[in-house]
Amino acid sequence: MSEGCPGRDESEGSIDECVFTCPACAQEISVNPEMKRAILSNGCPVCASSVTEQSFVD
Ligand SMILES: [Zn+2]
Repeated sequence: MSEGCPGRDESEGSIDECVFTCPACAQEISVNPEMKRAILSNGCPVCASSVTEQSFVD
């Protein structure tokens, strides 16, 4: 958990983060918008099941 980026973000995991919950394997992953897009196009990173917007919650 050491990022080594002083002065960049004061609060971790705030803006634009959401939680992906896979409907197939139930894995929960915190994602940023980039990861969200990747998962929507590539499927769950764990089980490769296809997912929709509804699998993401703030
Ligand atoms: Zn999955």
